[in-house]
Amino acid sequence: MSNQKKGLNTLCTHSGELKDEQFKGAVSPLFMSTSYAFENVAIKRYPRYFNTPNQEALCKKIAALEHAEAGLIFSSGMAAVSTSLLAFLKAGEHVVFQQTLYGGTYNLATEEFDKYGIEYSFTTGWQTKDFEDKIKANTKLIYIETPSNPLLTITDLAEISALAKKYGIISMIDNTFASPVNQNPIDFGIDVVIHSATKYMGGHSDICAGAVAASQVSIDRIFNLAKNLGGSLSDYTVWLLERSMKTMGIRVKTQNNNAQTMATYLHQNKAVEKVYYPGLATHPDHDLAKSQMRGFGGMLSFELKENLCPSAFQQSLQLIKSSMSLAGVESTVLSPAQTSHALLGEEVRAKQGIKDGLIRFSVGIEEPEDLIADIEQALMRAIKQ
Ligand SMILES: *Cc1c(COP(=O)(O)O)cnc(C)c1O
Repeated sequence: MSNQKKGLNTLCTHSGELKDEQFKGAVSPLFMSTSYAFENVAIKRYPRYFNTPNQEALCKKIAALEHAEAGLIFSSGMAAVSTSLLAFLKAGEHVVFQQTLYGGTYNLATEEFDKYGIEYSFTTGWQTKDFEDKIKANTKLIYIETPSNPLLTITDLAEISALAKKYGIISMIDNTFASPVNQNPIDFGIDVVIHSATKYMGGHSDICAGAVAASQVSIDRIFNLAKNLGGSLSDYTVWLLERSMKTMGIRVKTQNNNAQTMATYLHQNKAVEKVYYPGLATHPDHDLAKSQMRGFGGMLSFELKENLCPSAFQQSLQLIKSSMSLAGVESTVLSPAQTSHALLGEEVRAKQGIKDGLIRFSVGIEEPEDLIADIEQALMRAIKQ
């Protein structure tokens, strides 16, 4: 039976599962061995070769969910990002990054790439033209994030893929914010899809992992570097991640619905200046989002009016926690200016449109009326005297 014919929650639950031949247990057995009998020259099983039974099984689930030929799992999202980028870039080559980039990826480029002789540019926006403007003779790769962090801008997947093909270069996406539940970039021709599995794939704020999905040829290329860099994931965590991913579909769909409810509520609230959520008809790229996403995701951001104090608001929340990370079943908020984007400095933040009063909201699976009640009381307490 081909995976492509099965629905999302069936793939989440069953794709890639290992059979318990010995005891006929209901779930994939966990094989913790780091040492395996030598089968033949082609198959030498070892955790750092990314080919233990549990690793291989989970890679199949990742591939099935991203409509890809193959997948690879890593010890963190950044292991997946760094290994994928370095697998396709060498000294003297150039990469175009979307301006609004996850902080860790921005740091990887700006702190490390110089010493490997890899050149990079950041776009000034997220329109396809902004990417084409930065392409040079030695450009080998375009790297995008959509929806982006923290302003939820939408980049056109089909146009970026066409642009990359026009110049004969690789297109890569960090698909963490959407998750495979809401967006499958490979269907639009994007070459390599990366996830921080720490986020929606894990979903319970207790796993750190990364994932890549692509053609077999691309995965082989990434694997060849991965086995040398050594960013493999421990089998115990692989097993936990498989368990988490069984509920990814139902979790993320609930988070989509809750985020839509919260975005609508915040949009109507007089204490709120602006809401950034691709599911709102007022979002400038709502139609584009509709054309390439099945759901609009669980992430949104909003700006409070001047007469409210953002830190007092955050501190007054009782149910919703302040947290650096995102995508857990529990709702969390953070202030990008004070945390994730603090190191960028005021000037760069202003250029990117990140105001001091901006609050990023990772919407969980709680009942939306309880989230609204928590925000109502916190807004009251945040009014400046
Ligand atoms: C968290 C995150 C990463 C990095 O993942 P880690 O698992 O923390 O290494 C990369 N991209 C995005 C969009 C993220 O949110």
